[in-house]
Amino acid sequence: MLIRDLAIIGGGPAGLAAGIYAARAALKTVLFERGMPGGLAASTEIIENYPGFSSGIGGPELAQNMEAQARRFGLELVYAGVEEITRKDGYFYLKTEDGEFKTGAVIAATGAKPRFLEIKGEKEFHGRGVSYCATCDGAFFRGKRVAVVGGGDAAVEEAIFLTKFAEKVTIVHRRGDLRAARYLQQKARQNDKIEFVLHSVPVEIKGEEAVEGISLKDIRTDRVTDLAVDGVFIYVGHSPSTELVRGLADLDEKGYIITDEEMRTRTAGLFAAGDVRKKLLRQVVTAVADGAIAAASAEKYLESL
Ligand code: NAP
Repeated sequence: MLIRDLAIIGGGPAGLAAGIYAARAALKTVLFERGMPGGLAASTEIIENYPGFSSGIGGPELAQNMEAQARRFGLELVYAGVEEITRKDGYFYLKTEDGEFKTGAVIAATGAKPRFLEIKGEKEFHGRGVSYCATCDGAFFRGKRVAVVGGGDAAVEEAIFLTKFAEKVTIVHRRGDLRAARYLQQKARQNDKIEFVLHSVPVEIKGEEAVEGISLKDIRTDRVTDLAVDGVFIYVGHSPSTELVRGLADLDEKGYIITDEEMRTRTAGLFAAGDVRKKLLRQVVTAVADGAIAAASAEKYLESL
């Protein structure tokens, strides 16, 4: 059994910021990350609103910088998933893909994962025209036509990004008003390659070997029409990844972890930070702020033991 002061689960901006603060405060801290550090931010081509970078900064670059900074302060990064957390005698026991760890405190920075549309063709064509990551797959659609489903920041931002490659990008949204920030909406409306199909929901993704089209239902008339596209990018929101802390933390009606201002959950020693937390604004800037606060709270908690 490996013993540490603090375990951070998740290597997105919230987890990495928590790691920077905790390691710098000389807590023996381990951060678990299953995939690439950086979380959802690392799959964003450019982050325009993170303060300090007047021309924006690439998501992967920001993630790499945060990771290097955390390592400089001595954060231990373990590339393994956490399978289970149990609490006994005031300690946390983490069963991971890389052995068992015992810690005094845990910060859950597990983020959120893309939500599925759950329509016919979505699973079948995943990787053959259906994608949840424009940064990863956009370049495959050079000169082609794609649909982006959703009306939030992610959908509109990624639709704009996709115009670098695609000949035409159709944003399909179920309402007449987009949810995305106004400046993103303006940018999209000014882009000749973007068109909108509003008041419509996808009902089926069609094709033989790969995606060839998408059937869209106008929810005002129930009329279904087919749109010929080679790719469908789905951005219909996220669901929080809370499997590990169910039973230890209270969740809101949408499944996000409820914390107080100091990132404390209802279990002493368990903190949450970033997109997994119930909050008003899910951005890199709020994720890193959560991470810093969670680390300071964990430090205070560990000192009180
Ligand atoms: P979101 O804001 O929850 O938007 C999800 C969109 O998908 C909404 O427009 C929603 O429609 C639509 N939708 C949901 N379920 C659907 C379904 N079954 N069929 C069709 N459409 C459906 O999610 P997001 O865009 O992924 O953003 C998540 C968070 O990350 C937000 O807080 C966002 O601000 C943040 N974010 C920010 C940036 C940025 O600042 N540049 C970039 C990416 C993400 P309704 O509008 O009708 O509900």
